Amino acid sequence: MTAVLSALVSVAIIIAAYLAARHLIPRSKYRYVGHRQMPGWKGALPFYEFRCKVHGLVESYPAGYGQVLRCPLCQDLDRYC
Ligand SMILES: [Zn+2]
Repeated sequence: MTAVLSALVSVAIIIAAYLAARHLIPRSKYRYVGHRQMPGWKGALPFYEFRCKVHGLVESYPAGYGQVLRCPLCQDLDRYC
């Protein structure tokens, strides 16, 4: 009985984590395009395709504490402004 209960708890945790991940990255706005590793990176990061108001369809990865997706082209503009 205890084994069944702990198995149910494990499943509930996995479902909760899945829902939380989906909430952070809504499917309607971003499309997962795969893990990629850039030169100098320690590991691969998940890349998402999304629409930038200025540049249209772009690809980037979640960055920073809020794990926000930012258009790489807009980031370049920020840098040189
Ligand atoms: Zn942009």
